Order: sequence, then C-alpha cells, then structure tokens
Amino acid sequence: MTFRELNLKDEILSAIEELGYEQPMPVQEKTIPFMLEQTADLVALAQTGTGKTAAFGLPVLNMIDANRKQVQALVLSPTRELCIQIANDLKGYSKNMRGMRIVPVYGGEDIRTQLRQLDTAPQIIVATPGRLIDLIERGKIELGAIDFLVLDEADEMLNMGFKEDIETILERTPDTRRTMLFSATMPKEIANIAKRYMKNFEEITVGTKNSGSENVEHIFYVSQARQRYLVLKRIVDLNPDIYGIVFCRTRQETKEVAEKLMHDGYNADALHGDLSQAQRDNVMQKFRIRNIQLLVATDVAARGLDVSDLTHVINYNLPDDVEIYTHRSGRTGRANKKGIAVSIIHSKERFKIKDIERMLRKTFIQEQIPNGLEVCKKQLFFMIDRMENVEVSEEQIETYMPQIMKQLEYLSKEELLKRFVSLEFNRFLSYYKNAEDLNLPERSERGERGERGERGERGSKPGGRVRLKMNVGEREGIDPKRFLGIINDVTGDKSINIGSIEVTNKYTFFDVFADQLDQVVTAFAGQTELEVSEAKGSKSFEGGASRKPEYRSRGSYGGSESRSSGGYRSNDRGSDRPARTTASANGGEKPWRNRELGDRSSRPSGGSDRRSSGSSSYKGGSSYKKR
Ligand code: AMP
Repeated sequence: MTFRELNLKDEILSAIEELGYEQPMPVQEKTIPFMLEQTADLVALAQTGTGKTAAFGLPVLNMIDANRKQVQALVLSPTRELCIQIANDLKGYSKNMRGMRIVPVYGGEDIRTQLRQLDTAPQIIVATPGRLIDLIERGKIELGAIDFLVLDEADEMLNMGFKEDIETILERTPDTRRTMLFSATMPKEIANIAKRYMKNFEEITVGTKNSGSENVEHIFYVSQARQRYLVLKRIVDLNPDIYGIVFCRTRQETKEVAEKLMHDGYNADALHGDLSQAQRDNVMQKFRIRNIQLLVATDVAARGLDVSDLTHVINYNLPDDVEIYTHRSGRTGRANKKGIAVSIIHSKERFKIKDIERMLRKTFIQEQIPNGLEVCKKQLFFMIDRMENVEVSEEQIETYMPQIMKQLEYLSKEELLKRFVSLEFNRFLSYYKNAEDLNLPERSERGERGERGERGERGSKPGGRVRLKMNVGEREGIDPKRFLGIINDVTGDKSINIGSIEVTNKYTFFDVFADQLDQVVTAFAGQTELEVSEAKGSKSFEGGASRKPEYRSRGSYGGSESRSSGGYRSNDRGSDRPARTTASANGGEKPWRNRELGDRSSRPSGGSDRRSSGSSSYKGGSSYKKR
C-alpha cells in the first residue's frame, strides 16, 4: 500500500515524501483510512516506535481546515519531551500546508513564551495535561471547537497521575469530537476511560505485544537493598561486552546511578526527563552508535528510544507494574537475538518475581551474585579474546618492531603474555581481591522471609504504613521528585522511606512507615506553610497491622518516576572501581526546572547523594495537625 492510496492531500504527500517515508507503517495503514472514512472513535494498542504520531497526525491534518483560526485538534501527551517531539513531527507533516499552526504547551518552560505562541491562533495544540489546564484557566485556550482529541501514551499519563486532569480536559471538549486513544498497554483504567468518554470506538492492535520476549532469559539477583549499586557493578563487570539499559524508578536515582557509574569508569550516561530535547537526542544518538555501553534511564525517557540489539535490560529496581516489566524486558531479545532481563531485588521482593512469573508464564532464574574471582576470570578471558582477535596494523607496527623486539628479547613468550595481560588485568585483580560476598547469607534470607519478609516492606521492625497528605500539589508545581526533595530538606534525612506517592491538583498523598512517622511529623511541625496530616479514610492506612505488600497495578502514581514503598535510598554508594581507559560520554545536565517553583531552584552538582534538591527554594514552613 502507498500513502497516495490512503487519499491524503497532496501537501501532506509531498511533505512525507520529503521526509523519506516510502510506505505507511502497519498502524498507519489501519488508522488513516479508518479516520478518513468512518466516524467512530479509535482505541489503538501501539507501542512507541511503531509510527503512531503519523498514524494520528496525518488523518487529523488531512481533515483540519487551515483557514479556520480555531483550535480544532488537541493532542495530549505525558511528557514535555514527547509533546515537543509530536509537535515537531506534525510541523514536518504539515510544512506544505499554508496557514497550519501547531503549538506545543508543556510544563517546565516559561509560560510567557507559550502565551505568545498561542496568540498566533493555532489549529492544533499539543499539550501536557497540567500546563493545558493552567492555560485553559487563564482563558488562553478554548477547547469548545475541538473536532479531534488524541490521547497519546494514555497508560503513561495515568501512570504519572494525570487521571483527574485528563477527565477535566475531556469534560471541557465538545461531545461531537472524535477521540483517538493510543496506549502501549491496556490496563483496566484505560478501558474505563474509553468506555466512559468514547463513543462506538473501534479497537486496533498493532504489532505483537512484547514481541521478542520468547528470546529473553529472565534472571534475578537477591541482595541487600543498600548493596544494589555494587551488585549492578558486578553484573556489568561479569559481562564486559554488555550493551544495555539500566532502568531506574526516578529521575534522581537515574542521575545518581549514572553519575556513580561514570565516576567509577564505566561507559555510561543518563537519560531522564530533566534533560533538554537536544541533550536527550545527543545521549540517545551516542547510545545508538554504541559510544555509550550502558544507558541509565527512566521508563518514560526511554520510550522514544528504539534500539534493537541490546544484550541486557537491567531492572535496578523492579517496577510497580508487570506491564512495565514486560515493556522493559521486551527491549532485549529482538531480531532473533538472545537477550537477558536482569532484576536486582531484595529478599522481600520475591513475591513480586512470583507475580511477574505468573503473568508472563515464564520461569525466572535466581543467580548467585558473582564473586570477585568469577568476575576477574570473565574479564581475563574477555581480554584474551580481544587480544586474539585484534586487528594488527602490520605496516604501522612494523616500523617499531625492531626496537620492541630488542627491548623485550630477554622475556620468554609466557612472561611476555603475563605482562601484557597484567597491564589491563591488575586493576580488576586488586579491586576484587578482597571483594565481599554480596549474596544474602542463606540464614538471613530464610530469616527475612520467615520472620518479617512478608510483613512490612521494610526494616526489622514489623510495622504498618500510614497514609499522609501534604497541602501542596500539582498546582504548586509539585511532582514526586520535588515532593521527595521537600521530605529530604525538611527532615534532613534521606533515608526516610516514602511509599506510593500520589500528587493531585491540591494535595500530595504518600505513605510513611509507622516507625518513621514521628520523625516526619516532628520535622514538619517546625514549618509554617506546609501542612502534613493523616489522609482520612485512606485505603493504605494500616494502623500498624502487618500486610503483605500488594503488587500494585497501574493507577495512582507509583511507577516510573516515583520512589516506591520498599525503600529506595540513595546512600548505597559503592566503592570505586579501578579507573578504565574508556572515556565516559557524559551529556551535561540541565538545571532542574518546574512549572511554578522550579525556575528558582537548580539541581545539585554531580555526585551529590541527595535524592533531590527540588525543594531547596521552597519557601515553606508547615504545621502538622495533631490527630
Ligand atoms: P513514532 O512511533 O511516531 O515515534 O515513529 C517512530 C519513527 O518512525 C519516527 O522516527 C518516524 O519519523 C518514523 N516513521 C513514521 N512513519 C513512517 C513511515 N511510514 N515510514 C518511515 N518512517 C516512519
């Protein structure tokens, strides 16, 4: 099938031809005729990289009237990066359409620039939900004439806590609109939104979900949570030719892990939402061409990255959602190659592995964390292989051979080899000479599971979680990272375990463990503007009862950008690795910015082990309302 057969306008055909698109991708073959010829809504199960931007963009552009100076189409996307990317793609597709204006609006950028752009009367707005609501409330955007609404990466939007915002937006658009919903996964919440807000929708699925998963081997290592980073290093050292993604939960954790790896001489870099589009492109490009061996990323940031020959996907933390695990692991084992999905867990997370095994119908293998000797052996033979296969530039080396031969003639072949090998190998040997065993002692594993592992999610004291609420939310520019920054700054303690963060427009809900409750409460008692109180009627209030932690499905925030209960702590710094000769490619960092508050604060300098500095400029005080 050709694009011409899809009956697109000439201006669009010429633009996509210039872009080098030769024929429609499967999702486009399905959506374009459907949108142009039918009237129903559309739900499409399609993953990133399948061509979905053009799948909704081309038919929408085809049907919009460029002479009508009203917002006729709205595209909602979860992140500002995606928002910018979609807007740029649409601009590319419509570059030959006179009068067509597309404006992206997203948080994290000065709103005045966007206000100016909106004055140009765009026909299409691409937006993140929070900023869009701001602009609607300021009277700058009017959705009353919308003909098309696209929800892109709908699962991700829900995962990021935008459910309320999406509903608010949906209710502001006319019933006559046509809605297209794109999602990589189809959790119940998405089906509910479709049922509630969409009419006679048609469902399509593109590509096989989790394709390649047959070739993926799933393994996991069990260690103490605080030794996670050391375990990661062992895994990487055991696989010298690794080319993989290390998935972290939060942007902060992503930065920290990448910084530590780079500091320790690994060829790594970070990909997360705080980077500018140019920085992200730069990092992704370096990773694609294998200038970077290890990419440390959040789920959201890694979405735009399509690399097919990864050897490993490493879950630095298990995600809260089986779908996300599937998505992550599906990034390896593609194109008939074998891939390995590795998870680093602590003993209390075994039940999560069981859950994933059940859902994927796969058996996960627990491997012992390699000891120093095993790592050294692997490195040694990797080096020997490299030496065996290295290309020798005969001509160049010939010039120096007489002198080299003369200098080394007294050495036997064996001695020569030993010396060459030692040049590279010594640093591994000395580093791993006294390396500790990172596996949990068997008794400790049994003890943890038997005595407390299945009870609370943390520490030796069994204790319940208490759901609290803080009187700031999205409208004050709070997101989970910023919120964690506030907790860090106010308590002055980065080891407070915070679970299941949910940021709504006005409030931030979060769990703390009973034995840290007093510490949190007392810290906030000294504040005047920030208030922390118990979230009444909260489902997760356990009043000290022990409960097996639930492996949550999607819904409230708790996924890719939040720290889950279970205890991410940033202070598990590992010891250094011997310096490597390979230069690490480090894309620079962008100052951390946020909607209202963020422009005033900046991220900590590299190497900081604070979780976040997001709240450093937050002028707050708080009082805890005594119960
Ligand atoms: P998306 O899933 O929209 O992010 O698209 C993935 C990539 O495929 C982007 O780089 C698009 O520019 C590209 N693309 C989309 N449609 C086509 C097509 N029909 N032919 C070639 N490339 C395409």
